[in-house]
This record gives sequence, structure tokens and C-alpha cells, in this order.
Amino acid sequence: MKTIGVVTSGGDAPGMNAAIRAITRIAHSKGLEVLGFERGWDGLLTNTYKRLTPRNVGGIIQLGGTMLHTLRCPEFEKPEGVEQAAETLELNDVEGLIVIGGDGSFRGALDLSRKSETLMVGIPATIDNDVYGTDETVGFDTAVNTAVSSIDKIRDTAVSHERIFIVEVMGRKRGFLALEVGISVGAEVILVPENECKLEEIIAIVKENTRKGKRAGIIVAAEGVGDTGAIGQEIEKQTGSEVRRSILGYAQRGGSPTARSRMLAGLFAEKAVDLLCQDQGNRVVGLLHGAIISTDLEETCKKQKPLDMRLMKLAEMLAI
Ligand code: ADP
Repeated sequence: MKTIGVVTSGGDAPGMNAAIRAITRIAHSKGLEVLGFERGWDGLLTNTYKRLTPRNVGGIIQLGGTMLHTLRCPEFEKPEGVEQAAETLELNDVEGLIVIGGDGSFRGALDLSRKSETLMVGIPATIDNDVYGTDETVGFDTAVNTAVSSIDKIRDTAVSHERIFIVEVMGRKRGFLALEVGISVGAEVILVPENECKLEEIIAIVKENTRKGKRAGIIVAAEGVGDTGAIGQEIEKQTGSEVRRSILGYAQRGGSPTARSRMLAGLFAEKAVDLLCQDQGNRVVGLLHGAIISTDLEETCKKQKPLDMRLMKLAEMLAI
């Protein structure tokens, strides 16, 4: 193997830059050239890349986002797009491609692997933590900490004004971010798409808390649960408690990666380059029970990571 490619695709996540830096430096130490394709899969459609060297990836370990830029690229989902990308890889003699992104990006890599000789390896990087085969994705820890520090501030207002705040966090269709954030801020209620929580149950909890003298409260809701504004209004109407909604939004996606996200990026990069050097493709690296492992790409695309429901129980016990 002489040349490998790197691409960041889908939603940006803090630690993507740390992964690009680590891949480049590890690959160079093994005598490999690294091409960084720009703007997600679009860079493979248009043959747009930067030659990455240990020097030009300096000074980015602490930066959020991705120096290679990223976008969602619907053209890539068409057969002509995948063929074009395969041609770009062949044209540049790219023998291995490391895809840094989420499950959508890996589905793209799987399609591409069917048309190209290039070996594909995925590095899970998304704040949603919704990738099968890894306990944690690059960027997740950073997003959890960002959301926690915002909600700690919101709690000050909640307590001072004796209000209930329903705080919406990201996560797309999954509740990994909401669950970990919810436990970490001591939320009174956590709403996740995986666990249908009836409005009556939330109302009963709020009423019971008021009876116990707990007049302020934080409800952490995953964006995937639906209209949090309507849920908040209904709680206010049925309990008489003052309810406000706060959507944390894009502030959760950016920012300097935590040490944990940077470490994970380095460990995943090492594993990804090692796999390519051993001529192993169609793998996605991951962290399972403390060990760095890899899973078959197709399995990663087809299977859904379960949410740990024991954590929901823990959250309930901690919220009394
Ligand atoms: P993420 O990788 O963070 O999950 P997306 O789901 O938006 O982000 O996927 C990123 C890109 O991967 C998409 O814009 C598209 O180019 C490609 N992609 C997503 N799903 C598929 C699919 N089923 N087949 C081929 N390519 C896909």
C-alpha cells in the first residue's frame, strides 16, 4: 500500500480534525502518502483533494469541525455518483480510503466498496453516538459536556424562577445524547425516542415533584421525540407549573474536542491505518468494552445499536 485517502462526511463532530491529523502522521510514519478529499463525498465526485503531510495537519488537534469540510451529498447516492467516485480513487491510485463519519457515510462507503477495488475503513465520528459496533463515537463526549454545561446554567434560572425547563438536545432519531446528558445534569425526566413516554406519566412526575416541594425541574428531550414545544405547553396547562422550552441546537455540534474525543480519534486512527496496512478493508473501527476493535462494514450499516435501558432506570432512581 502506497497511497491512502481520507474523507469526512455527514454531520461534523468535534475530534474529526484530531482523527485527520492522527491518520496523516501514523500513515506517514509507515511510508504512506495521504490524500484528504474535500467536502465529503463531493471531493470524490470532483477529484478535489489536498495532499496531507505531518506539517500541514499541525495546529488542528484542538479545533472542532473538519479542515477537509463536509457536506451531505445526495448525488453520491446515485449509481453514477458511486461510479464517478470509484474512478477518482483509481485515477489517484488510492488503495485504501478512511471514511470519518456516521452511519450514512458508512452506507456510502459500502456502496462504493461494491464498485471499487479500494479498501474501505470507517472511523465513527458523530455527536449522536448512533453507530453499531462501538460504545462511543468521536465527538460524542464533547457534545455531552457542551450540553451539560449549558443545562447547568439553565438550571440556575429554573431554580430561581421555580420553573420547569424542557431542554431539547440533538441526536437525530436516537436518544444516546439525551440519555447521557440527562443523567449527568440530574434531569427529573428524560425523553428518548426508544422509550415511548406518555404525556400523562410526565405530568404525574411533575405534579408529584411539586407535592414533594420540588418546584423546579429539567426535562431533557431528544430531538427525535417530536414537538417539544407542544409537550411543554401541555405540561404547563395540566400542571399549572410554569414551563419554558430551550433548544440547544448547533452549539452542541462545534467547539474544541474534549481530551476523551481526541484520544478516541487517535486510537481509532491507529487501528484504521493498521487495518489498511494489513490489506483489510470493509471494516469500521470501534471501542467495545474498553478495547479497540473493528466490525464488518455491512454489519455496521445493517444493525442498530441498542440504547442501554438500564440507564433509563438509573436516571429514574436518581431523580426522586
Ligand atoms: P452521517 O454520516 O453523519 O450519518 P448522513 O446520513 O447525512 O450523515 O450521510 C452522509 C452522506 O453519506 C450523505 O450525504 C450521502 O452522500 C451518503 N449516504 C447516506 N446514506 C447513503 C446510502 N444509503 N447510500 C449511499 N450513500 C449514502
